[in-house]
Amino acid sequence: MSVLWPDFVQHDVMLDDKTTLALPAMTALYARITHINQLQALAKFKVRRFVLGGGSNLVLTGDFDGLMLHMGIGGCTLISEDDKAWYVQAGAGECWHDFVAWTLDQGWPGLENLVLIPGTVGAAPVQNIGAYGLEMGERFFSLHAVDMASGDLRSFTREECRFAYRNSLFKQEGWSYDGCFAITDVTFRLPKIWEPRIHYADLAAELDERTLSDRMSAHEVAKAVIRVRQRKLPDPATLRNAGSFFQNPMVDEKCAHLLKAKFPDLPTYPQPDGTIKLAAGWMIEQAGWKGRSLGAVGMYEKQALVLINHHQATGKDVLALLDAVRADVRRTFGVELLPEPVFL
Ligand code: NAP
Repeated sequence: MSVLWPDFVQHDVMLDDKTTLALPAMTALYARITHINQLQALAKFKVRRFVLGGGSNLVLTGDFDGLMLHMGIGGCTLISEDDKAWYVQAGAGECWHDFVAWTLDQGWPGLENLVLIPGTVGAAPVQNIGAYGLEMGERFFSLHAVDMASGDLRSFTREECRFAYRNSLFKQEGWSYDGCFAITDVTFRLPKIWEPRIHYADLAAELDERTLSDRMSAHEVAKAVIRVRQRKLPDPATLRNAGSFFQNPMVDEKCAHLLKAKFPDLPTYPQPDGTIKLAAGWMIEQAGWKGRSLGAVGMYEKQALVLINHHQATGKDVLALLDAVRADVRRTFGVELLPEPVFL
């Protein structure tokens, strides 16, 4: 018996223009979601699901035989305020950068280090986006998500989201992969006492050159982040990419010590939990992959951590380069790199 889908569900939709890496793939079913009711109407259907935001952290390795829920729920609003903070809510389909810019324009600082990160507000908690020494989880207050098994709308606190380094409850298998929870809106807590966070070398250098510290504002920090990012990271509109393609490996102190003895220039960053963060981009560069291509894809010439689709690449091309880079880093450093995007 054929399934009777609601009118807003489309069949056999190409996804090339819906991810920033622009790999060719088709989804059997597709729904643009602009209201919670649509998610609740779809909850009763037993089908494989995937929640798509801005498509900036997704590698499509082939066609998808399920239902793609393309999040388009909008709206930005100040929901409350106390003497310590502003509480700001945004729909999951809002463009992350536009949302950050809007908070700054309203005079609510706190998210400035995260400007220009591609993607949507709803995707931000999934991998706990971070940049220049700030993680989204630090400004997060709560979110709403529809449980796609029951259609119920649930609220999640910060603790329940289990934020970790570029990770959360929603990134773990069984949560996002089957579209178990579709995030519909996110609320941020932006403290009224603001201090610039500018300890990352690139950012500090940019501000030293252009800004007098006594005049520094969140807008100035945001502008500096934008300049640094535009210099170093490719614009997905012109050079198709999925941002950082590998996670920075975390190793124990002994391993970091041994590596440092062999590679004295290796950047290492001690973490609060005692592990040591290694810079994956530096290792990829040393392994000879900066600016080097394999078929239609390559590692970016200005930042070796970013994989570029030069021209009409396929998921197969991406997987071949992924394997080649991992193998060379493993051979050179004995360290296993893990990809950062989600593979479908
Ligand atoms: P970078 O400045 O060349 O630094 C290389 C790596 O070293 C970064 O991955 C960064 O780790 C780490 N690092 C640098 N200075 C550090 C410090 N003072 N303390 C601790 N760790 C430090 O990095 P980049 O490629 O130009 O990227 C700049 C920032 O944008 C990074 O924070 C990066 O994570 C962020 N970014 C985020 C995304 C995303 O969320 N998807 C995508 C692209 C870039 P961290 O990555 O842990 O910061």
